[in-house]
Amino acid sequence: MAVEWKEGPAIGIDLGTTYSCVGVWQHDRVEIIVNDQGNRTTPSYVAFTEKERLVGDSAKNQVARNPTNSVFDAKRLIGRRFSDPLVQNDINLWPFKVIEGSKDRPMIAVSYKGEDKQFAAEEISSMVLKKMREIAEAFLGKTVKNAVVTVPAYFNDAQRKATMDAGDVAGLNVMRILNEPTAAAIAYSLDKVGRVGKRNVLIFDLGGGTADVSLLTIEESSFEVKAVAGDTHLGGEDFDNRMVNHFVQIFQRWHKKDISGNARALRRLRTACERAKRILSSAIETTIEVDSLYDGIDFSSNITRAKFAELNMDLFRNSIELVENCLTDAKMDRESVNDVVLTGGSTRIPKVQQLLQDFFDGKELNKSINPDEAVAYGAAVQAASLTGMGNEKVQNIVLLDVTPLSLGVETRHGDMSVVIPRNTAIPTKMERNFTTLEDNQTELDFPVYEGERARIVDNYWLGEFTLYGVPAAPRGVASVVVCFDIDANGVLNVSARERTTGASQKITITNEKARLPKEEINRMVKEAEMYQVEDDKYREKAEAKAALENYAYDMRNTVNEKENAAKLAPAGKKKIEGAVRQVIQWLNGNQLAEADEFEEKLIGLQLICNPIIAKNAK
Ligand code: AMP
Repeated sequence: MAVEWKEGPAIGIDLGTTYSCVGVWQHDRVEIIVNDQGNRTTPSYVAFTEKERLVGDSAKNQVARNPTNSVFDAKRLIGRRFSDPLVQNDINLWPFKVIEGSKDRPMIAVSYKGEDKQFAAEEISSMVLKKMREIAEAFLGKTVKNAVVTVPAYFNDAQRKATMDAGDVAGLNVMRILNEPTAAAIAYSLDKVGRVGKRNVLIFDLGGGTADVSLLTIEESSFEVKAVAGDTHLGGEDFDNRMVNHFVQIFQRWHKKDISGNARALRRLRTACERAKRILSSAIETTIEVDSLYDGIDFSSNITRAKFAELNMDLFRNSIELVENCLTDAKMDRESVNDVVLTGGSTRIPKVQQLLQDFFDGKELNKSINPDEAVAYGAAVQAASLTGMGNEKVQNIVLLDVTPLSLGVETRHGDMSVVIPRNTAIPTKMERNFTTLEDNQTELDFPVYEGERARIVDNYWLGEFTLYGVPAAPRGVASVVVCFDIDANGVLNVSARERTTGASQKITITNEKARLPKEEINRMVKEAEMYQVEDDKYREKAEAKAALENYAYDMRNTVNEKENAAKLAPAGKKKIEGAVRQVIQWLNGNQLAEADEFEEKLIGLQLICNPIIAKNAK
């Protein structure tokens, strides 16, 4: 594997809920790469139309016209089950359809080229990852295979594994899954490495869909995460939703009409709300205006910063509570925190900043890092470090992360027996002894859970395995050691060994319910290749058509320009006009022709026009 990593460049990808960003280490620094639209971040949007599949800006730009087939927020679905109440809640708010797939898996249902299609969240995320990869490849002029991909620190095992699956489908070798706040911490302190002593840094990351708090101790080039706390379902989109609901009610009150079932109206209202929310970070009042929002009614209403804060106060407070939990877990008091660093777009909200500042007794918050780019920046540094690129500072980086949630197995009566407590430094390996509960029991089941509650019903089921071949004996005699092993990606493997006989058996847990089976991944990889071919074909066709159109109209303008017309021999002018007319007529009737037909027409037209123009130029 290590050899594979060294092949070619390695990029850092911040796979965000609403936006993604990609960076690479080059010329002794991180370059945040602009996309084909000249933007440094790319919307995490994938849209399906009658003709093509769009990813990024082009997908987001057509959302209002095509709300039900424009997919976003895949990160809120990834690694979750359909029956998850959070998923159910989101489904009500999304304009696109999510249905129940096999094994309780949520599937996004869209219409693509007139056909009904279903996609797993991993597939949508893989399309975004692939887009980020292409952006990097266009910039570097090379194929890129290796990447560090970031996830919220609070992502659980299933969400991490699903993100790796998405990377697989995108044809990427995901070298490391890096926690977003850790990446932000690297971005924050890289230029300070070796210059300042030991510092306790709290990273407060409030993005579009997730809230993450991490407390790190940074000393020399070592980044040691002390504790993390977070909510994988708290962020800017929840604030948008509150505002949307507020205006849905206002609309109902004013016009006695319920717009909540209308996907297009909701989408347009949400876009306006998100814009208003951003404005309210600098202005104290703004207006929402949506023409013909519903039933031809134009909607216009005011909202103040105070009202927006009131609508979201409980959510804002929840984010501050995470800071408190994080400090408690790290056994650190607030006075010991040297820097409070803000990242994530939603930390621009003044009320959030104020609550955080109040919590730290008026301490100045650090806004020095670019919240949109810091995570990709840190990921690019880590990618360089892993592939042996970069300067000494980068090479010396030591990252010590923690596991965000406790991991354990179910014991009798449905209790959770914790094997690895949350906020344990990773990679780690921990063992626990178990025994049989019945006489002559030869099999032992181990349901594995993740979470902080005492009862397993309140925790998250990761999967289970059975250890066979336990020697028959009275209950309580057999001694089975269960080992939980978390790698540097925060991904868990579990194994078990029977001690009395010395016989050991290694079992790796497969998170089969939340995770995609290998065949599914293979199918998706194949489909992704097929979509790529279709996309390329479509693009090629569009380009060939545009080239023919441009040339034809160019020629028409050339002969029409007075100066040129005067110089052209009348016969030549007539010939060009006739040929151009024919091509334009042909174009009108053959918009759906193949790329080679457009190319053929272009060559034909050039053969007629170019010699006449060239003669004229002499
Ligand atoms: P991120 O996931 O870090 O890219 O954050 C994206 C979220 O930040 C989205 O929900 C945006 O609406 C939100 N956001 C971006 N700029 C602002 C702003 N000026 N004020 C409030 N929220 C913002």
